[in-house]
Amino acid sequence: METSTEDVAEDTGGPARPAAAVAHATEAAVEPAAPASETAAAAAAPAPAPVATAPASLSPSRAGDFMQCPLLYRFRVIDRLPEKPSEAATRGTLVHAVLERLFDAPAAERTAPTARALVPGQWDRLRESRPEVGELFADDPEGERLAQWLAEAERLVERWFSLEDPSRLEPAERELFVEAELDSGLRLRGIIDRVDVAPTGEVRIVDYKTGKAPRPQYAEGALFQMKFYALVVWRLKKVVPRRLQLVYLGSGDVLTYDPVLADLERVERKLLALWEAIRLATETGDWRPRPTKLCGWCDHQAHCPEFGGTPPPYPLPVRAADSGAVAQGRMGPD
Ligand code: SF4
Repeated sequence: METSTEDVAEDTGGPARPAAAVAHATEAAVEPAAPASETAAAAAAPAPAPVATAPASLSPSRAGDFMQCPLLYRFRVIDRLPEKPSEAATRGTLVHAVLERLFDAPAAERTAPTARALVPGQWDRLRESRPEVGELFADDPEGERLAQWLAEAERLVERWFSLEDPSRLEPAERELFVEAELDSGLRLRGIIDRVDVAPTGEVRIVDYKTGKAPRPQYAEGALFQMKFYALVVWRLKKVVPRRLQLVYLGSGDVLTYDPVLADLERVERKLLALWEAIRLATETGDWRPRPTKLCGWCDHQAHCPEFGGTPPPYPLPVRAADSGAVAQGRMGPD
């Protein structure tokens, strides 16, 4: 399953960054480690249970979750059930980190060998910041599977050079956290892989995908995330991005779309309708499973009625769908 860096922009929990704030997400993710004594104490203490909160904002990934399966959205955003790291998603994170860091080098040094050489170091940093990814290779004492996995990451990095020439690019932003509030109060947030700004001021939004390009009939779904970002940029900067660009490293394709204002207005209307549906489900506790072939990628089958499972008790107040009364209670999605 394709993942994006904006997955780290959660829809709930913790104070939101100020509207229109920007930050370099990967830098935040590798803040200096806590002193060893603190780390040891934290490891010894039981992990605090996640506190359930109502959704407060929307990112492209979570919007996609709700459209795919409302119950999946509930499990991820409200129950915050843990999910195992996957090799594909972790490789995506690693490749994104390499492509971002490569721009630290002078333009002439942004070559494929330089990029490949960044892979081991970025893998070390990723394991430091997210120790759970080390579990992926816990059953690989000889390191053979890890070596293949790293080699595939290097191949994906190398393929980028057949699609773009980083020595000719000077991104205005990398791993840019964006957040904007719509007139309705809905907060949209996400992380944009790369923003290029031409001398004329035209903006290009670029997103890297380590999977394969979708077939043409599914391109609209792939562009949803990009139009979401374009809407946020438009709201923040009053500029409609000139181009949206998806770079598929898995298949060596580039998908572009030049949006117009009407596209962004359409996406805004769609997101408002989606948010209304999420708000209603949050209040009523009515989160329907929607089984598709994507269930094969879902970590939560053990809690899903479609697979004989039972959701955890609903942690938020609920009200009956046909009454205005809100009651403290617990109910499953059915
Ligand atoms: S297994 Fe399928 S239907 Fe069930 S929660 Fe996951 S995505 Fe939804």
